[in-house]
Amino acid sequence: MVDLKNQYLKIQDQINVGIQEVIDTTAFIKGEKVNEFQHHLENYLNVKHVIPVANGTDALQIALMALGLKPGDEVIIPTFTFIATAEVVALLGLTPVLVDVDFDTFNISIDSLKKAITPKTKAIVPVHLFGQNADMEAILQIAKENNLYVLEDACQSIGSEYTFSDGRQVQSGCMGDIGCTSFFPSKNLGCFGDGGAIFTNNDELAEKMRAIANHGMVVRYYHDFVGVNSRLDSIQAAVLDVKLKYLDKYAVSRQSAAAFYDKAFGGCDKLIIPARSEKSTHVFHQYTLKLVDVDREGLQKHLVDKEIPAMIYYPVPLHLQKAYADTRYQSGDFPVAEKLSGCVLSLPMHTELTKDQLEYITKNVLEFVEK
Ligand SMILES: *Cc1c(COP(=O)(O)O)cnc(C)c1O
Repeated sequence: MVDLKNQYLKIQDQINVGIQEVIDTTAFIKGEKVNEFQHHLENYLNVKHVIPVANGTDALQIALMALGLKPGDEVIIPTFTFIATAEVVALLGLTPVLVDVDFDTFNISIDSLKKAITPKTKAIVPVHLFGQNADMEAILQIAKENNLYVLEDACQSIGSEYTFSDGRQVQSGCMGDIGCTSFFPSKNLGCFGDGGAIFTNNDELAEKMRAIANHGMVVRYYHDFVGVNSRLDSIQAAVLDVKLKYLDKYAVSRQSAAAFYDKAFGGCDKLIIPARSEKSTHVFHQYTLKLVDVDREGLQKHLVDKEIPAMIYYPVPLHLQKAYADTRYQSGDFPVAEKLSGCVLSLPMHTELTKDQLEYITKNVLEFVEK
């Protein structure tokens, strides 16, 4: 699905120098590299505060901890997403309230969101799935009317830009109160291990989240909050600082691969190509097709036989997962998410796809689908 080796080889010298610098200084934790990367990312995103943490799941958890919510408070989450989003809500004793998604964009459905708001709702967590921002203008409006926090899960969408109707262009994760991202190796900005970050323009929340990520400590050995230990290490920061310079270029590579797929599949009535939102750029964390009357398992097997990986993101929506299934939800509650889980298929998508590879993949997909 990804080709991290060839991506590394192209920037090997810079990465190796950066890692060696960390080794030479032995500042493995909270070293200067982490500060440098933090400031470069703040500039890139045009956001006041970036708080580097250990991974994307921690980023979400620390962000939620900073909001001062009480057990039983409700947090709205799309049901068609990666589990981490719901996990942290449940772990903190908050109540995840699931809502359906939009068939075209895979992102949170505004209608479903509106219907889920109750007096206990405290926050909305839109997930910018597969690399395209959710309808943030509508979400922020709803949040304002109902006095809710907006916590963006930008783990798949770093570098994607959203355009508001007044023309303002804002980076993914920098529109709501807090944004979270992951630097897991296969993410659009990936390191060589685990990593994550939190974004905010709110000084107070930034200070609190920085403290929570560091054992709730503001002044050394004085703990003002219940915290956690969640740090981005210096070696990961050194890798990310090099790769950040290429992030826009990487997005262009992904977009070109997506355009190739679109052109090949656009004319086939058994395949629905990913819809583009008018308001958001798409950085293609995934290229996800919807299959129409196609034997998905058969297609997947056909591709695997040709050494082409193809994955189902995500096969089971959150409301039907064992850990989250409760009396509130049953099969049929979120028909769009359930339909998507039954028909999506993601193809290889990364920065190193060659024309030959794309031709080989599209030829083999079409061969099976049109037979
Ligand atoms: C990857 C991902 C996460 C979690 O990030 P980790 O760094 O793996 O903890 C959370 N939400 C979404 C949507 C993701 O894709």
